[in-house]
Amino acid sequence: MKASEKVYDFIIIGCGPTGSTAATYLARLGYSVMVFERTKFPRQHEGESLLPFCYPLFKELGVYDEMKTKFVKKPGVRFLNYTDTQSATYCFQNIITDESKLSFHVLRSEFDLMLMNNAIKNGAAVMQETKVESVNLKREDKLVDVVTTDTEGNKTEWCARFLIDASGQDTFLAKRSGAKNAYKELDRTAFLTHWEGGEYTDGLQVGLLQLVYLNDKKSGWFGVQPVGKDRLSVGLVVNRQYIKEQKKILTDKGIKDWQMAFYKQEVEECAFTRRILANAQIIQPLLIVSDYSYYTEKPWGDNYALLGDAGKFLDPIFASGVYLGMNSAKMFAEAIHVKITEGEEAGAVQLEHAYKHINGAYELVEKFVNIFYDPNSFNLADAPPDAESKYKNYETAFSLVHYLLAGDFFNNYDKYSGFLDMLRNPDQFQRWRALSRSRPSLNTPTCDSDFNEIFGDILDELVPAAPGKEEAHKLVLKGKGQEA
Ligand SMILES: Cc1cc2nc3c(=O)[nH]c(=O)nc-3n(C[C@H](O)[C@H](O)[C@H](O)COP(=O)(O)OP(=O)(O)OC[C@H]3O[C@@H](n4cnc5c(N)ncnc54)[C@H](O)[C@@H]3O)c2cc1C
Repeated sequence: MKASEKVYDFIIIGCGPTGSTAATYLARLGYSVMVFERTKFPRQHEGESLLPFCYPLFKELGVYDEMKTKFVKKPGVRFLNYTDTQSATYCFQNIITDESKLSFHVLRSEFDLMLMNNAIKNGAAVMQETKVESVNLKREDKLVDVVTTDTEGNKTEWCARFLIDASGQDTFLAKRSGAKNAYKELDRTAFLTHWEGGEYTDGLQVGLLQLVYLNDKKSGWFGVQPVGKDRLSVGLVVNRQYIKEQKKILTDKGIKDWQMAFYKQEVEECAFTRRILANAQIIQPLLIVSDYSYYTEKPWGDNYALLGDAGKFLDPIFASGVYLGMNSAKMFAEAIHVKITEGEEAGAVQLEHAYKHINGAYELVEKFVNIFYDPNSFNLADAPPDAESKYKNYETAFSLVHYLLAGDFFNNYDKYSGFLDMLRNPDQFQRWRALSRSRPSLNTPTCDSDFNEIFGDILDELVPAAPGKEEAHKLVLKGKGQEA
């Protein structure tokens, strides 16, 4: 069925943070925008810890005040070693003096719903439970045909001047064009769920994101963060070879639900998660994401662009994905507007500029991620309390690591990239250690925040009711999860 003869300026696939940000900016500029979202919101999603550098976006989008009443604040990041004997806390207040020194941990169900409603409020149309089935980008007149299906399987045809693929890990266009490439060295799988009854200690009571280095064989990490007053999100990332070995051991024992058994086993083996989750229970289905770390050769063309996870996905250790996607969407919307209003030439310059910065940001994060996994490189948990005070000389290096953890990816990627190279040099690294060891604040999991400042504004009724026990033990598999 043809929906109508209407030609939209933009059709967007997916209403995650990237899609809804693009939709809001474009609708505000006066374009007709239609977003198709396969699921019905609110829906569960991974990616809950946000970076201070998102603040200008939240303010421009007009959602900041709402966020303050909905989400837990995040004053910084604490890195821990596997045995729970060494840690270092990086507080955003060391480099940021305004309110963005407190970032957010969000329930993605609520966050994505809020952003979708905001896009609608700003003039975009959104159709939920509507899946994009196919697109044709090769019409002679450069218009784009889109075919969707609803939940009953009814097909509808649509038309637009431009297609934005913000389909996330579904990678709608990249999969169909064969342009998707894996980062083989980052081949890992993530398992994530929420727990109730966990201990709010070690900085969790003041909102610190906790990142635990897993030992060499597992080559991964645990990420633990409070997303409510009694709701801890606990994500595990491990390399696929290790999972394969463990799968065999568990299934040989006759365990059918081996993924859940594996996740619980890892929680037990890691000193920090074992301690804080000793009396806690799982309250949400286990989400498994195994289509991990990829990039697309050519993420844009005359009548289409791939934004956010639809084009590129990097290991989420530095909680970068939402900001990378949302800021790319804003930069793209502004650049395409120049193309439409000022002509091809000016538009091409603007788009090149936007994509240069987007690529620079992703490449910087990729380098930071690779350093995290390099056992010979610097370890962010390595800041024992007994060292001398030498840091003054290395204030710049100290600040740069904080800026990276806060999300300063788009403007200074060249500078930071050089800095990361420098830290890979063993001599320079020793100087960094001297610096980081001597910072007393690195060893104190507080960031000067208290419970009320972090949790006080959250309206309790906004935290979704926990599903029943049966529901909580279901699995949600994404990507190649079945084979993990
Ligand atoms: C374990 C894990 C932990 C993470 N932690 C963090 C974190 O702490 N902080 C952070 O910033 N990032 C994190 N990320 C990354 C983050 O989840 C993503 O980068 C972010 O969600 C990308 O947003 P997006 O809008 O591009 O895609 P998504 O949020 O995935 O949205 C895509 C949307 O498109 C819809 N869609 C897909 N196909 C179709 C179709 N054919 N038709 C219609 N709709 C479709 C989907 O239903 C979905 O709603 C994490 C990722 C993982 C795997």
